[in-house]
Amino acid sequence: MDEGVRAKYNNRYQSIQKRRVIWLVTGCVGLILIFIMFRTPIASTIISRMRGIWIEMNRSMVTYDSQLPEIKNMDLSIKNVNTDLENQYEYITKARKDLYQGNLILVNSKYACLLMEKNKLSKVEKYKNKAYKIMDSNMQLNHETLMAYNDIMESFSKATGKKDMIITSAYRSLKEQADALQEKVDLFGEEDALKWAMVPGYSEHHSGYAMDLSIYTDEGEYVNYRGQDEYSWIDLNCYQYGFIRRYANEKKDITKVVDEQWHYRYVGVPHAYIMTDKNYCLEEYIDYLRNFAFNKQHLKVKCEAGVYEIYFVPSEGKETNVPVPRNHKYTISGNNVDGFIITVTLEDAL
Ligand SMILES: [Zn+2]
Repeated sequence: MDEGVRAKYNNRYQSIQKRRVIWLVTGCVGLILIFIMFRTPIASTIISRMRGIWIEMNRSMVTYDSQLPEIKNMDLSIKNVNTDLENQYEYITKARKDLYQGNLILVNSKYACLLMEKNKLSKVEKYKNKAYKIMDSNMQLNHETLMAYNDIMESFSKATGKKDMIITSAYRSLKEQADALQEKVDLFGEEDALKWAMVPGYSEHHSGYAMDLSIYTDEGEYVNYRGQDEYSWIDLNCYQYGFIRRYANEKKDITKVVDEQWHYRYVGVPHAYIMTDKNYCLEEYIDYLRNFAFNKQHLKVKCEAGVYEIYFVPSEGKETNVPVPRNHKYTISGNNVDGFIITVTLEDAL
């Protein structure tokens, strides 16, 4: 072969070799960077965001009717109040800000989550049991909600042998909600995105009482959760743990959110019992409770979780005097609209 041609081929061969080496080194550096990134919080946030986008893209727009269990051994009655109230009750003062907190706050496209109860948030990773997974190690939930979720997942796992439920979204800050909405706008366009994601401030996820669920199989695959097959156990039993499926298809005209099979909300016991029994969404339930004004009539509920009395006290503005029982345990929640709901425990679980 001619020397000139040989030199030309040698040069070309060497440059191909050089390029191969460069690619190899770049690849190795890339792999090392990915490895380092996986171990940093930023990387885990990026990765969980990517997973989130994947889940959103795969969520179907197909709607499902909610599966409502028949609640046994429950008795709802109305107690007229005309007895000597002064002896049984004392008054405590609630500030306006208290209206915006508690397990019964109504957050929707009309009523923003005005007060994020950050002091009641807990890191899920720190308190979770092994019956379920979480998508992001930084995820937070309202502490009471988290404890109730641990209980329901433990029971679900015992009943079905499954430990593959995963929380894909829990508490969200305003910025996180803005990002979540933007992701959906990018994927589906503004009109469809707004059917699913609330504008920042109006998402239940700000409250810490709401969560989105998915299934993460042992093979490492995400499967859309819609209460299918053995997972129907969750829809049939969640009321016992204080949870409701928040956005049923049949209630979309009231909630203004299309069917979201994966979104659960903690309202506590006995409220989840009553809502499930009456098939009320939260908007309807909050309206219903206004019928039980303190000095008129109280709602009495007897269920497997205990015996309770519930009444409503309208907010008086800056400060409200709320009557509470002298001799019973009780909880007070604002409704985030116009008043306080007092839940009195008359008897613990039967
Ligand atoms: Zn959600």
